[in-house]
Amino acid sequence: VKSLSGQVAFVQGGSRGIGAAIVKRLARDGAAVAFTYVSSAGKADEIAAAITAAGGKALAIRADSADAVAVQQAIRQAVTTFGRLDILVNNAGVLVWGNIEDLTLDALDRTLAVNIRSVFVASQEAAHHMENGGRIINIGSTNADRIPVAGGSIYAMSKSALIGLTKGMARDLGPRGITVNNVQPGPVDTDMNPADGESAEQLKGLMALARYGKDEEIASFVAYLAGPEAGYITGASLTIDGGFSA
Ligand code: NDP
Repeated sequence: VKSLSGQVAFVQGGSRGIGAAIVKRLARDGAAVAFTYVSSAGKADEIAAAITAAGGKALAIRADSADAVAVQQAIRQAVTTFGRLDILVNNAGVLVWGNIEDLTLDALDRTLAVNIRSVFVASQEAAHHMENGGRIINIGSTNADRIPVAGGSIYAMSKSALIGLTKGMARDLGPRGITVNNVQPGPVDTDMNPADGESAEQLKGLMALARYGKDEEIASFVAYLAGPEAGYITGASLTIDGGFSA
């Protein structure tokens, strides 16, 4: 029996990068997985088709995380389709880079909407449907603890906010045995932060392990937190960053 057999997961932002790796890993571990995307419809459909072809269950839903109603409807659609909800992964995030002298209010609002507000909205909706003993896993960032280069103020702020939100939600949902945790990756090779990008060499110089993480390495940690062995971990912000913050 696979570790997540019979369980249902919902992943915000599962069409590319870390989210796509999480979707594939949770499906491989036996969960039925619903996931959202905004613009990458083709990639989302490919992932869902590959999971189905391998004998699993997947559902790709277009829902902008900045749109609260769309997120709530997507979660309800997942529950209707798969019959229950056990695991929520809040992965969707945007990185708007800029000096505080230049950042626009639109950039601030977009960052808050996708990186924080959507976590509140999805967690609240999911909590209404989730089985006791369920899991909420947020994808924060090591930049909540360390932002060693200029230009990351609002991104770092958004990821720091998840630390407090995670702690508070863990207290609210503890009586139901639902755990809430915040995974804080360091540099991971994705479209958001390519390992061959402009700042890659500089970032590697700041790490104990001078390499980018792989999306599968983050997914494996998320799968552990989603699984039965992690039931005593809650309210925690857990860093997986190659020693970036060491
Ligand atoms: P990518 O930009 O590579 O992928 C982002 C994914 O999220 C895509 O599937 C995208 O969908 C989806 N997404 C983005 N905005 C929205 C939205 N408004 N509504 C729904 N889905 C959305 O990012 P990463 O995989 O690199 O990052 C994933 C998470 O990990 C983020 O929260 C990020 O902050 C965090 N992180 C990343 C690090 C890194 O170095 N890569 C380091 C630390 C944290 P679509 O394809 O449809 O646009």
